[in-house]
Amino acid sequence: MEKIAVLVEHRQNEVRDITFEMLGKAHQLLEGGGEVIALFLGDVSQKGLLDQITPHAHRTVAYLDSNLKDFEPLRYQAAFTNIFENVDCQLILMGQTAFGMDFAPAIAAKWKIPFTTDVVDIEASEELHAIRQMYSGKVNAKVSLKPGEKMLCTVRAGAFPAEDIPTVSGELQEITGAIEGDFSARTFVEYLEAAVGDVDITQADIIVSVGRGIKDADNIPIAQELADALGGVVACSRPVADKKWLPKERQVGTSGKTVKPKVYIALGISGAFQHQAGMKGANTIIAVNKDPKAPIFSIAHYGIVDDLFKVVPALTEKVKELRG
Ligand SMILES: Cc1cc2nc3c(=O)[nH]c(=O)nc-3n(C[C@H](O)[C@H](O)[C@H](O)COP(=O)(O)OP(=O)(O)OC[C@H]3O[C@@H](n4cnc5c(N)ncnc54)[C@H](O)[C@@H]3O)c2cc1C
Repeated sequence: MEKIAVLVEHRQNEVRDITFEMLGKAHQLLEGGGEVIALFLGDVSQKGLLDQITPHAHRTVAYLDSNLKDFEPLRYQAAFTNIFENVDCQLILMGQTAFGMDFAPAIAAKWKIPFTTDVVDIEASEELHAIRQMYSGKVNAKVSLKPGEKMLCTVRAGAFPAEDIPTVSGELQEITGAIEGDFSARTFVEYLEAAVGDVDITQADIIVSVGRGIKDADNIPIAQELADALGGVVACSRPVADKKWLPKERQVGTSGKTVKPKVYIALGISGAFQHQAGMKGANTIIAVNKDPKAPIFSIAHYGIVDDLFKVVPALTEKVKELRG
């Protein structure tokens, strides 16, 4: 493979981590040869964001227009056409995010490009393969292309590291010009921040998170006591929020919050990929689970295979003792 294009994702004047994750993967696939091309759609006032991108792409193609400040699907699709005509590549990467999930299918349909969603890995040897998970992560499917075909992939957030991306002396190619068309059917209105609730788990350094293994709302204080002893907060997996044992704002995962604490203690959480996506960036992950085969152990730095109702009170006792 010689050329890979990555669509830069930004929101509220910040380049999102998924962009760097995709740039890193693109470099890895090209193994030092070939060309990583970053595609940027935005307003002139956002040009400063390109300083974070150009060092990591051999070429950055930027369409700058005052109407592209915020994501509007129809206008972005039209603008993408203008930049994509300047790009010849074998693989296009976009994020499996609200932005990518809205945008990518329209692009794949318009350009008739084979499209693979929610990709967790990509292999490029003789042929190009995209790996995606099925049946809640129980099966990995390998999607192969016919020789010579292009592929568009939306990449799952957190699938690749966002750090240590090679630095190159990249060139910047700016494109301007009016975007033609009627885009009034779907327009940007405003950003609404999700409710933070009484506790903002995204800002916490220590999180004690409970899953269905906690069994009942009445048992949440066991986790709260450990969190209090450690100076942390309590979060949860989706079933716990669905059952209203804890507020929705405490849910970690793809349909909850993404957290990056120093320590994440998972109590009675199996570690489904939807949960992992929201917490695998934690510095240290400690899991307590009765089932030694629980997927959470595949990403945990420390694991205790035991009954949480036995382990947690003992842990809390020890922490209190150590902290005096
Ligand atoms: C579109 C979609 C979005 C989703 N978004 C999210 C999301 O944002 N966040 C999320 O978490 N999930 C999400 N899910 C759900 C996800 O697929 C899993 O179903 C969920 O994460 C499982 O939660 P859990 O680990 O608490 O429960 P379970 O999978 O039921 O696991 C419970 C675990 O507790 C262990 N256990 C039981 N008793 C004990 C005990 N006494 N001591 C120790 N361990 C014990 C069991 O061994 C088991 O591993 C989503 C699913 C879909 C389809």
